[in-house]
Amino acid sequence: MRALRLTGWKQLPEFVDVPEPEPGPGEVVVRIGGAGACHSDLHLMEEFDTGMLPFDPPFTVGHENAGWVEALGAGVGGLEVGQAVAVYGPWGCGQCRRCRLGMENYCENQPARGAMGGGLGADGGMAPFMKVPHARFLVPIGDLDPVDAAPLTDAGLTPYHAVKRSLDQLVPGTNAVVIGVGGLGHMGVQFLRHLSAATVIAVDQRNEALTLAEKVGAHHLVLAGPDATTQVRELTRGKGADLIIDFVGSDSTLALGASVGRPLGHMTVVGLAGGTLPISFFRVPYELSVATTYWGTLPELMEVIELAKAGHVASHAHRYPIDQALDAYREMREGRLEGRAVIVP
Ligand code: NAD
Ligand code: ZN
Ligand code: ZN
Repeated sequence: MRALRLTGWKQLPEFVDVPEPEPGPGEVVVRIGGAGACHSDLHLMEEFDTGMLPFDPPFTVGHENAGWVEALGAGVGGLEVGQAVAVYGPWGCGQCRRCRLGMENYCENQPARGAMGGGLGADGGMAPFMKVPHARFLVPIGDLDPVDAAPLTDAGLTPYHAVKRSLDQLVPGTNAVVIGVGGLGHMGVQFLRHLSAATVIAVDQRNEALTLAEKVGAHHLVLAGPDATTQVRELTRGKGADLIIDFVGSDSTLALGASVGRPLGHMTVVGLAGGTLPISFFRVPYELSVATTYWGTLPELMEVIELAKAGHVASHAHRYPIDQALDAYREMREGRLEGRAVIVP
């Protein structure tokens, strides 16, 4: 089969013919219906080198996947061939306490070297078939189209986790700021609207992204730039934001986030742009907690899929045939995508 593979660091992935995967004992092969193109793939292609991550190329890219069960390995029960499933992305050991609580994204037995998941060291979903090492990583999606479900596994799950950890902050009268309304951010806006009473302020440097933010329910739109801090603070009537989720993570967005935070608020950094936030006593609001988050838990993926099944949230997914996968990444780099690009093998 033809797979889109990263064959070395600091280069674009390329199409390579590889054997179709066979399921070993306990494993499942999924026929891919859709594989989301994540901005993290751009970081992967452009910013890393040998030894910087726990894994190295070659591997098939695509860590945001859904499709249909194609073949079950020996001993796998509870799934049927042909069943539509989403693939949970961060693959933990399954044995540690965190994993047993469903938090495989924070597995405590991750080996120092090795794959972190399909598309992240192991072969991912930008190919007709993908091997998944255990049935627990598959979540049935019912009648959802795998093209719509694929982005839920990362562009949905990651913001869902980021919102959920701060939900108790977001009582009526509070404000939440979403910085960067791309693949993840436009889902973040929807979770905030559906799950909380907060007023949602969306910030992006592109007007097209703000149009999408409005479409998915943001109350206020702010164009990134020198006036953004003042505008956000005015929209919060001077109180500041109770939650800031930064889906960019650059020096400027971190500075913006901290400058609009409310004392006792939360600032959650999801974007991997690698910026830093200098902290000093007079520089950040009192008791503003700053945390990074990585992906989300298995039960949270089930919750996201329930919300999508019920029609409460949806990814604005645009289909690209696999031949055009590199076009999708180029458009993402140039800031021309709306919502999420999903590669269809
Ligand atoms: P995307 O390209 O779809 O969206 C990024 C958005 O941010 C775009 O709308 C862009 O216009 C906007 N933006 C960029 N710079 C900005 C700035 N200075 N001010 C305001 N807006 C700005 O990307 P995505 O796929 O949604 O991913 C977002 C980030 O999250 C990436 O860094 C990605 O690697 C990261 N990510 C992290 C996790 C995690 O678990 N922590 C998971 C998935 C993705
Ligand atoms: Zn991702
Ligand atoms: Zn574990």
